[in-house]
Amino acid sequence: MGSMNEAGAMATCGGKPPWIRVKVGQNGLFQATKERLRAHGLHTVCEEAFCPNLGRCWACGRATVLILGDRCTRGCRFCNVDKRPVLPPDPEEPGRVAAAVKETGLKEVVVTSVTRDDLPDGGAALWAETVEAIRAAAPGTLIEVLVPDFGGVADDIATVIRARPDVFGHNLETVPRLYPQARPQADYARSLAVLRQASEAGLITKTSLMLGLGETLEEIEQTLRDARAAGCAIFYAGQYLQPSPRHLPVTRYVEPTEFVEIRDLAYALGFGFVASEPLVRSSYHEEGQTAFVRTALDA
Ligand code: SF4
Repeated sequence: MGSMNEAGAMATCGGKPPWIRVKVGQNGLFQATKERLRAHGLHTVCEEAFCPNLGRCWACGRATVLILGDRCTRGCRFCNVDKRPVLPPDPEEPGRVAAAVKETGLKEVVVTSVTRDDLPDGGAALWAETVEAIRAAAPGTLIEVLVPDFGGVADDIATVIRARPDVFGHNLETVPRLYPQARPQADYARSLAVLRQASEAGLITKTSLMLGLGETLEEIEQTLRDARAAGCAIFYAGQYLQPSPRHLPVTRYVEPTEFVEIRDLAYALGFGFVASEPLVRSSYHEEGQTAFVRTALDA
């Protein structure tokens, strides 16, 4: 990031800077959300990825459910999800997810999944069943999906689109130059095509970037322009945090002021809602996004 302060980068690589501190609020709703998700045997990204915002989101009645198992067929170097051999998907999972959402009274649910390159449809049919089951069990709950790229198979992506989630998310994760070291089995153009297909089908689309992997401001700007050209309405950016020494190292901790610069740039490029702060994660609970989505859906 040519325009960002290099000196700051050197000083903070040793330890986490003060702005990477999390206060975990455990109110009654937090506890209830935890117990009910457990009761239905659901995996959550909140826990799998050691998400720093778990406390905040659960306390607001928002959780991110991981479907298609907790083992992935890919090996993204920033991701903490289990990479052991995958297990067969559970055909009962859509019903269990829907029951948990209803019982927990979640106002918003984010459904995401590992990538299942082993399945003929990449898991698309089970994805659609899950969205439809939640819709039937909890009609007032906002459904956001954060999907894999389904190997770029348009028919499989269309299967999920037909279930009409309220927000269709797919993460670009980083800038194209860093794909080989960060997400070697992914493809930047393919990911843009996933977003474009959903946007052209009239869905509200969303994407996110992790920062601190060595990307420049110019590269971020080009990625924002590409996402806008693919019809993306919502953009999130947050600081990459290394899950373990086995994972991709943090190149630098991006200053909060730089996140503000990126937020303003994204709005200037026409995004409808932007969240850009060090602790933002793609499924982070943002009142502003909820209001933007509900307004767009009512329009
Ligand atoms: S595809 Fe998704 S779940 Fe799988 S390793 Fe990459 S980021 Fe993690």
